[in-house]
Amino acid sequence: MNSIQDIWNGILEILSGKLTPVTIKTWFEDCAPVDLKDGTLVIHTSTDFKRGILQSRFEGEIKEALREMFSCDFELLILAGDEVYEEPPAANSLPEMEGYTFDNFIVGKCNEFAYAAAQGVVKTPGNKVYNPLFIYGNSGLGKTHLLCAIGTAIHEARPDARIAFVKGDDFTNEMVRSIKEGTADEFRKKYRGVDLFLVDDIQFIAGKESTQEEFFHTFNSIYEAGHQIVITSDRPPIDMLRLDDRLRTRFEGGMMADVQPPDVETRMAIIRNKAGHLGMQLSDDIVAYIAQKITSNVRQIEGVINRLTAFREITGDEITREMVDEAISTVIRDGVYVPTPETILKETARYYQVSEEDIKGVSRQKNIVTSRHITAYLIRNLTNLPLSGIGEYLNRDHATVLASIRKVEGSIKTDKELAATIRDITSNINSRQ
Ligand code: ADP
Ligand code: MG
Repeated sequence: MNSIQDIWNGILEILSGKLTPVTIKTWFEDCAPVDLKDGTLVIHTSTDFKRGILQSRFEGEIKEALREMFSCDFELLILAGDEVYEEPPAANSLPEMEGYTFDNFIVGKCNEFAYAAAQGVVKTPGNKVYNPLFIYGNSGLGKTHLLCAIGTAIHEARPDARIAFVKGDDFTNEMVRSIKEGTADEFRKKYRGVDLFLVDDIQFIAGKESTQEEFFHTFNSIYEAGHQIVITSDRPPIDMLRLDDRLRTRFEGGMMADVQPPDVETRMAIIRNKAGHLGMQLSDDIVAYIAQKITSNVRQIEGVINRLTAFREITGDEITREMVDEAISTVIRDGVYVPTPETILKETARYYQVSEEDIKGVSRQKNIVTSRHITAYLIRNLTNLPLSGIGEYLNRDHATVLASIRKVEGSIKTDKELAATIRDITSNINSRQ
């Protein structure tokens, strides 16, 4: 890597091709480079007046020169007089990763490659072989778990490492909000400056143009700085049809690792492990029975075991096959995971950036009304709750709920945007417990 002075000399050289020697001498002679990090070049000049001129007349050209040298965008920060550079605070979001470690991840044929790649990242973060690491596979197969295990392990090894964890759709929401609130600069700095960038469920940014654009620059500044990026997705880049080609190329440029549904031995190991964590010992027969019934999704296995602990508290008895059947029927319907109304409300509110109280309340604001209709529609479609129950949950009578559901059913046929939104929210719901 070039020294900061080399980089500055490079910039001056490019500028001398465009500006007169007098201009360079007047405005750049007492300029000195301070730092180039996290997508920002920091320079220093003697006075406030000169800084003003540099900003108004030359900022564009300096950034242009940087782009020429690194083929990615940089921010410029100019200090003057006795100002000193303070590093921006670390982005820290570790609470979200709690409980996900390599230790409590069961390895089988289905995930051993992804597991090894994740450990490779921890050993040498930023190594081009694994950068980015792109983990893909169906819902409930441990992608988020591995992503967070990487975060947890790197945090342990290097407590000062700046780690950012973000979900694809939260990245979008945050970006949109920052533009609205005029804080786009802070938003940029927050992610461009990290040592480890963990992005969960990237599929949500596909098709969203300005988000993809911003993500592309974020990706580049982190990558160019030699820092590590790990991404998860429910499908490989080639199947993300609305993904920007530039991003597809980047995603495919590192290591791709898939996670597959666990085979029966792995399922049994997971069942024993999860039950053990909850202080529950299951007989071999029951372990095998659950493993035979739930084949494609670890989240569902967990759901069933959680249900079983509730039975055990009530009956105090040994777990029987009947209890397993009962637990399965509350967690899975037609082979699909049944979410709770709370999860549906929460995910819909999160998607629309409104509060859960708003949805249950009386506001007629457009996006609150839409999110209310969608919540009713999704509870109806994803759970077994009757209309009256949905009404009670959303503080409405059953005719109002029915009207909401009909409205969504009607619009969804012609409104592609709405149909896509509902698919996204459903997918979010399915990736929650
Ligand atoms: P995904 O992100 O692929 O949808 P998650 O990582 O959220 O799936 O996994 C769903 C649940 O199953 C989590 O609670 C996770 O801890 C658990 N899980 C998934 N795979 C494994 C595994 N191999 N060993 C232990 N737990 C697992
Ligand atoms: Mg996930």
